[in-house]
Amino acid sequence: TEACLTAIDGADALGAFVHKTPDLAREMAAAADARIKAGEADKLTGIPLGIKDLFCTKGVPSQAASRILEGFRPEYESTVSQKLFDAGAVMLGKLNMDEFAMGSSNETSVYGNAVNPWRVNGQDLTPGGSSGGSAAAVAADLCLGATGTDTGGSIRQPAAFTGITGLKPTYGRCSRWGIVAFASSLDQAGPMAKDVRDCAIMLEAMCGHDPKDSTSADLEVPDFEAMLTGDIRGKTIGIPREYRMDGMPAEIEALWAEGRKMLQDAGAKIVDISLPHTKYALPTYYVIAPAEASSNLARYDGVRFGHRAKLSQGDGITEMYEKTRAEGFGPEVQRRVMIGTYVLSAGFYDAYYNRARKVRTLIKRDFEDAFAQGVDAILTPATPSAAFPLGQSDDADPVAMYLNDVFTVTVNLAGLPGIAVPAGQDGQGLPLGLQLIGRPWEEGDLLNTAYALE
Ligand code: GLN
Repeated sequence: TEACLTAIDGADALGAFVHKTPDLAREMAAAADARIKAGEADKLTGIPLGIKDLFCTKGVPSQAASRILEGFRPEYESTVSQKLFDAGAVMLGKLNMDEFAMGSSNETSVYGNAVNPWRVNGQDLTPGGSSGGSAAAVAADLCLGATGTDTGGSIRQPAAFTGITGLKPTYGRCSRWGIVAFASSLDQAGPMAKDVRDCAIMLEAMCGHDPKDSTSADLEVPDFEAMLTGDIRGKTIGIPREYRMDGMPAEIEALWAEGRKMLQDAGAKIVDISLPHTKYALPTYYVIAPAEASSNLARYDGVRFGHRAKLSQGDGITEMYEKTRAEGFGPEVQRRVMIGTYVLSAGFYDAYYNRARKVRTLIKRDFEDAFAQGVDAILTPATPSAAFPLGQSDDADPVAMYLNDVFTVTVNLAGLPGIAVPAGQDGQGLPLGLQLIGRPWEEGDLLNTAYALE
């Protein structure tokens, strides 16, 4: 813990931690010490972690990197962070992210962006988003692991951009209670860490049934670490042809081919599969996610939480809402609220939201069909490129940023577990990641397949 606190203080330029909690960390570390001396240590006892700012942490600022939650100190702890602390993990502070987890470059944060510890030619690169602070902190050794959340790729894309491992569990595996909601039918918390083993250890502590989240699954939590045998002989790995996109960089193609070979050499059978509705995934996601966001973000009204705008004489409650929300939400969040409100409006509900829900079902069925044919896991690239330079996000062309999520959003729409593992480098030496997608609830198997890729 002391080593991490020192490292964090020396790494302010990375912008990874937006709120440091050194006193709390020392207190938790002392308690962990006592636990270790008493012979009651867990695998995570005394392990210093960073917590994404989307998680409510009791008494500690939790702002979802938004101005609208300025000054909000929750009275409660999120289930996931509580479970990690119950296992003895130590909290070092809160980690940077895109505002309300909306973004792919960490640039929509009210705190300003985090920076990728990997650089080329002295150029600052994005750590990815939305869990950019989590990824940067783990990659720069500021903490041993971090929590992330993934609604459309926010764990896996930043993991790939920073050369770490990140797992998005099956929808329902981790409780969403106490995590600021973005798109409730897609959001999942998951571990971000140096390698597959650390992710397995963290996941085991993070998940489990929670009566406070009606979508939390009442399932046994296996010993995920014990499942890491590296033996994947006889497993069938599907290669979806729809993920081979026009204009895909040759180095991503090569990485994918190398991944196939590694799994084959380890005894897996590689088969070509088709997920025919893949091409509709991005538009479907960018209807459903904003729809749910517009509804979830209605609660930020200037009364119940955080920021309230200064009012003028004669302003009524409507002006209070309008001014507060105009000041409190950044441009990307406002865009999502407007898109969401539009697609849910009486005149357009059937044309957009309902249509998207139907296509979502088709996308889910594509995966079910592949699994029914005996596929155990699906291998794809994690991202269409390596980390890109900061400063490219363009309010005039938000869709360019949305295209980053092309390989990751299908997993959220189908509720499946997906993991990104570092698998190689691009021509400039930047890390590249591969993604493995697993059957629902089979994170143990998925982690073990990923382990064979390490
Ligand atoms: N980049 C995607 C978005 O902006 C995904 C974000 C996420 O997974 N939280 O919506």
